[in-house]
Order: sequence, then C-alpha cells, then structure tokens
Amino acid sequence: MTVQGISATLALVLSAALASTAGAAPRTCPKGTKTRQTNVQKGETLATVAERTKVKVADLRRWNRLASESVRKGQNLRYCAPVFTPGSVGSCNGGGLRGGVNIAPKDGRGKGFVVSPGRKTTFGTPATVRHIRQCMAQYQKAHPKAPPVNVGDLSARDGGHLGSHASHQSGRDVDLGFVTKPPQSRGVFDREATSTNLDAPREWTVVQCLLANHDTKFIFMSWTVVNTLKAFVAKRPALRRYLKFFGNGVIQGDTEHLTHLHVRFRCTKGDRMCRD
Ligand SMILES: [Zn+2]
Repeated sequence: MTVQGISATLALVLSAALASTAGAAPRTCPKGTKTRQTNVQKGETLATVAERTKVKVADLRRWNRLASESVRKGQNLRYCAPVFTPGSVGSCNGGGLRGGVNIAPKDGRGKGFVVSPGRKTTFGTPATVRHIRQCMAQYQKAHPKAPPVNVGDLSARDGGHLGSHASHQSGRDVDLGFVTKPPQSRGVFDREATSTNLDAPREWTVVQCLLANHDTKFIFMSWTVVNTLKAFVAKRPALRRYLKFFGNGVIQGDTEHLTHLHVRFRCTKGDRMCRD
C-alpha cells in the first residue's frame, strides 16, 4: 500500500471512530432523568431542538459531543429527560396533568363510544381512561345495537384551565353524553335528556358501571335524569341495592348537566401530587 493509501485508510478508520462516538448516549444522565433520542426536524436549529426537548443548548452539545451548534435535518441527538410517573397534579379545579393518556382513537371510534373528530381535550390519567374504556366496553357488550356514547371533554394534554369548565383540569373529569332516543349527533351533546327520550336501561348500564368503581367520586346529571333513573332502579328488585347512591352524595342532581353526565374520579392510590 502506498503512503497515500495508508493515510486514506487511516482517515476512514478515524472518521468511522468519530461517527460511532457522535451519537453516544450521555454517559451520566442526572438522577431522576433518563436518556431519550430525537431527530432534528426540517428547519430546526440546535436552539429550537433544545427548546422542544426542554434542555439547555450547552447540555445538548455536551451530551452529543458537538463541536459546533450546527445540526442537520434528520440528525439523531440524545438528551436527558426527566422521568416522571403519569398522574393528576393538584385538584380538578386548579391543577394539571402529567403524562396524560388520550382516550380518543385515531378515527374517533372506540368500543362503545365516539369522540368528535376535532376534539383535542381528551386526556386523562391512565386510571381515568381505563375506567371510561371499561364502562364503555361494558355498555357495548350489554347493548350491542345501541348507539355509541359521546365522550366529551376530559382534560387538555397537560391539564390546566379548560374552556368554560370550572374543573376538567387534572385528568379526572369526563363528560359523557346521555343515551337518548333518537341519539345525539356523533361526538356532540346536541340533545337534552327528558323523562321521555332518555333511554333509561342503556343509560343505567353506564351509570351502574361507574357506581361499581370505587374511584368514582361524583356523577353529576340533571334532576330529570336523576329522577328517571331512580324510578327505573326502584322498579327492579335486583337493582334496589343501588338506590343508596341516589342519597349518599355520589349521584348529584343539578340544573347544568342537561345533555351529559359529568364524572369525577378520585385520586388514584399512590398518585402523590393529586389532591381530592
Ligand atoms: Zn364536565
């Protein structure tokens, strides 16, 4: 091999060695954080990547051993991100949500429920989303031909103040459209429930499932719906044990929830930042 050949080979080996260290993981992510990766998006600078990943530019350079601040589209960068357990932060009337789970399926259609396509505020704690999915699936199983239940707002992705709601801030509230005949439009609470149009047997399946869950703290609904469901339950000996829920504060009648019921779930055991 010629001298030029040797130096060319050396250059290749060196560049390969450099390339292999360029994407090396941060060797020491601080306690409470863990290594994550991201690709530089079109038009991004190191500063915008830093902003997006909520870290400092200097840290990104150090972790990725970058000689300068220039990055190229598609470049893989590693960084240290805080590790957190998902959950509810603070109260439903003044709180937030960490690691919220979106209940809305891509096409808006879930098992026994629908979400209107444009609705983005459908994030809840993992427990909240699990409880709703479970009751919606139970509803569908009990009434395969019934229209799906409209799932309305839960919380925003990170929680916090949500539109005209006083609550819905920490991933533990959900609005569920009443089951009426004829049904409400898909994903929209456009029909008030009356004593004659409420589909009591189907609505009761939803409410009974929620009542069976110890995490259910309140279910708000119009007095019309309270009275219609109470009469439905009172007439059926097998259901009479549920009558107590109409007087123990779990089912709450009001004049606001005319088109949907509003469910509030308790803090999950071990969710340390959550406040009931
Ligand atoms: Zn609500």
